[in-house]
Amino acid sequence: MKIAVASGKGGTGKTTISTNLALYVAGQGYDTVYFDCDVEEPNGHLFLRPVITKKEASSIPVPVIDESKCCACGECVRFCEYKALVRLGKIVMVFPELCHGCGGCTIGCPNHAIQEQEREIGIIEAGQSGKVGFVHGRMNIGEAMSPPLIRDVLQQIPNKEVNIIDAPPGTSCPVIASIRDTDFVVLVTEPTPFGLNDLGLALDMIRELGIPHGVVVNRAEDGNRDAESFCEKRQVEILAQIADDRRIAECYSKGELILIGVPGVQKRFEELWQAIRKRLMA
Ligand code: SF4
Ligand code: SF4
Repeated sequence: MKIAVASGKGGTGKTTISTNLALYVAGQGYDTVYFDCDVEEPNGHLFLRPVITKKEASSIPVPVIDESKCCACGECVRFCEYKALVRLGKIVMVFPELCHGCGGCTIGCPNHAIQEQEREIGIIEAGQSGKVGFVHGRMNIGEAMSPPLIRDVLQQIPNKEVNIIDAPPGTSCPVIASIRDTDFVVLVTEPTPFGLNDLGLALDMIRELGIPHGVVVNRAEDGNRDAESFCEKRQVEILAQIADDRRIAECYSKGELILIGVPGVQKRFEELWQAIRKRLMA
């Protein structure tokens, strides 16, 4: 099964939940792999501290135009949705940084004037952290095209029982590339007005995609029922709540897993895992 952990905004504790959930599930005897798809800023490795055994480049095919064959018909420019091709008089210019590597311009060129050249956008590293398998992508500095790298990370999914995907924050293309083929999405939020506003946007996106989902309230405060009221109103289940606890923040700042460092947290991950299983088996 593929379980994604996402959040409407950054800083809600998505990586804390996903790394510790992976550790908890692996501890229950399941073959488990953690995938860090937050390729612009991967930080799951800081907590899982994997031994990396495999490293490979991720690249996309970008067009190269043979001017001797190009008649400047503009067909490729019209096709490219991403404005990666521009016609200037009798010349077509390529802006590789804007190209998504879809290959459409190459197929559509009537004069076969386009060839493709691989352009490296990042690397994929894989390894092992105790019982947890580990894969992450790191985008090259200055690169803006994360969905192709995310797809390459997810293509590393082996035939394991549980695959936990740490999605990038937000609600745009990189998140959709990370969660679209998953069986369940855990949405992490915090009970603040900003947190709940962004949870609402993430819920809209997930409901559009039709993926089963539930919420984890992180940094839950005693006496604050804002998250419960919000989730009741939006008819979404709260799978687990993690208390706002200074020991968790200390653990995080030291790059430690809270499942190991904070007594009592184990129970919360047990609740979360049981709630996910119940939903997936319903
Ligand atoms: S489609 Fe082919 S021939 Fe037409 S402008 Fe583009 S590269 Fe040139
Ligand atoms: S490969 Fe796709 S995205 Fe890239 S320039 Fe051609 S049409 Fe545009």
